[in-house]
This record gives sequence, structure tokens and C-alpha cells, in this order.
Amino acid sequence: MFSDKIQVTRSSMPPIEEYIEEIKSLWDSHWLTNMGEKHNQLEERLIKCLDVPNLSLFTNGHLALECVVQAFNLTGEVITTPFTFVSTTHAIVRNGLKPIFCDINPDDYTIDTEKLERLITEKTSAILPVHVYGNICDVYEIHRIAQKYNLKVIYDAAHAFGVTVNDTGIGNFGDASMFSFHATKVFHTIEGGAITFKEESFKNKLNSIKNFGITGQESIEDIGTNAKMNEFQAAMGLCNLRNIDKDINSRKRVVERYIENLENINGIKLLKEQKNVKSNYAYFPVVFDGYKNSRDGIYELLKQNNIMARKYFYPLTNRIECYKDYFSSQGTPVAEYIADRVLCLPLYADLALEDIDRICKIIKG
Ligand SMILES: *Cc1c(COP(=O)(O)O)cnc(C)c1O
Repeated sequence: MFSDKIQVTRSSMPPIEEYIEEIKSLWDSHWLTNMGEKHNQLEERLIKCLDVPNLSLFTNGHLALECVVQAFNLTGEVITTPFTFVSTTHAIVRNGLKPIFCDINPDDYTIDTEKLERLITEKTSAILPVHVYGNICDVYEIHRIAQKYNLKVIYDAAHAFGVTVNDTGIGNFGDASMFSFHATKVFHTIEGGAITFKEESFKNKLNSIKNFGITGQESIEDIGTNAKMNEFQAAMGLCNLRNIDKDINSRKRVVERYIENLENINGIKLLKEQKNVKSNYAYFPVVFDGYKNSRDGIYELLKQNNIMARKYFYPLTNRIECYKDYFSSQGTPVAEYIADRVLCLPLYADLALEDIDRICKIIKG
């Protein structure tokens, strides 16, 4: 049943012996969560790996994002994009804030900085852009705008593990960035996530919010939540981190094979490499625009062949049931255009090259 079905992604896993070795000490310590030994080791290693000054682990990426938005005490409106996973928008709304949707640019599908500035009002307190597919936003221009209007910048970097620009880890930009370590992401801790951030003093605030607001045995200063990463998650992270370079290299090979098969075909638009950016090859989105078959047609065709591509990101978050009565997608025409035409093809480290050729043959008809 599983052998001939190709899913859009497949979690990397360490050899089982390696994981068992990693968790053995937990049977000595009986310390299973609440900033344990594995948790602290993983924080240290990720700070090195992502080349960031500060990092705090969370039980998943979404709660990390909710917590960081809360920690900055934002008010009013937050500018973001609708071309993302619904988590980005939910994190804003669940903090009692209003998302203001900015369009994306047609080149890399990140926030269109030329349309951003005109959305700023006296109510705006932050910008929450997304490094979608691991494509980085125009971090320098966003920094300039944020300085000019005194806004916080929080990046949704869920897709951007290990990405660098001009040899700088992507988690160094903005006031904070959220990374997701969900099982479907490039690096995972089964479920998990992290916030990287600029101000060292911010760590106490984040650690408090992710642990009910507890700041001492008898003091609870914040209306916090429970978003702590447990030791089994952290142990999985420690194992996966040993293999991450190899994994990203394997993904690169997969992406290159797709490009060989699908480049220079009329009506098929592939992502361009971004200048001075080291990619993590997280996703392979293809835009079918004027191709002989539609995106939905290709999706069905692949499905008939047991190949599960995904319409990431469709529908836009300003068009889904819980938001569509409050927002309009008319203000984000490029996002709407891409969402109607994009398909993410299967991509994971051990996807066989023959399978890629087979997938592309079906697409090419
Ligand atoms: C995966 C993802 C999240 C949420 O991360 P979880 O770890 O699954 O909670 C947020 N934003 C984007 C863009 C994502 O892809």
C-alpha cells in the first residue's frame, strides 16, 4: 500500500539504533520535558547551525509564532501575506490583531515590498512576512521600511531552515523569526519549532510565555500557554541534525533532476535561483500558466497515478471559510493568480530519480 504511492513529502528518520541510543539517558534522568538536557543541547546546536545569536525551542512552529507575537505586545494591525499556510494568519488573529494582506511579487512569491508601504497606517504595529518555499523576502527593504515607521518585523521562516543570504543565517533578520520543525519540514523534531531573535533579554519573555507565564516558583507574570518542547522531540532533533547536510544535498539532487526535466517548456514556470542565497531545496513549486493542461488537470492526472502533489498554497488564507467574510482577495491579485496555478511536486531526500522522471513524463503527457 505504501510502496507504490508517492506522497508530496516523506519524513527523514535517523537509523532506529541512533534514536534509541539518544533517548537511553532519559531512563536514568526521568526528566522528560521542561527544558531538559536534550532540549538545552538542541538549542545550543541550533544556534551554531543557524548561525543566530539567540534561540528558544517550542513544541511546534505555530505556537512559537503565537507566542512571539504575544511577547512583542503588538496592537492593531499586522501586515502579512495570504500566500502561506493558514498558521501565519491564525497566529495574528488568535492574538486579537487584525491581519492586513499585502500582495506577493510574481518572481519569488514573497511579500511585494513595493505594495507594502501604502498599507501602513497609524494602527500598524508589525510586519509578518513569509519566506515562502524557503525563498527569502527582500529582508533589506523590509528592514528599511520597518525602521522608517518604527514597526516590529517577525518572519515566518517555517520553510527556511538552513537558508543563508550573503553568508548570513536567515534567522538574523527582523526582530525575530519562526522556524517549524514539523515532520514535513526540511529539518524536523516530529513536531517542533523555534524562535530566533535579536535581543538576548527577550529569551526570558519567550520562556515564560511558553511555560504558562511562570517566572519563579511563586510568580506568574504573563498570561502564557504551554508550548514547551519535550525531550523525545529534542532527541529526534539531535539525531536529524547530524544528517541535515546530507539530506539537503539529496534534496538538491532531486530539484536538479526536476529542473532538467521541466525547464524551458512553454507554460511551465519554475522558481529562479535567488542571488547570493544558499537554498535548502524545501519545495518544488511549478506554476502552470498557459500550459496545455491546467494545474487542476495535472493534479488529477498525477493522483490517478498514485502521485500526491499538493496545491500549496491554495486557497489563499484570505479566501478560506473562516476569513472570507472579513477579507477580500481582490487586494492581492498576484497571490490569487499564483494560488490558482501552482502545484508543489513530491520532494524529499530519498525520492528516487526514476520516480522524478516518471512524474515529469506524466506532466509532459
Ligand atoms: C508548517 C508551517 C507553519 C506551522 O508550523 P507547525 O510546526 O506545523 O506548527 C507555519 N507557517 C508555515 C508557512 C508553515 O509551512
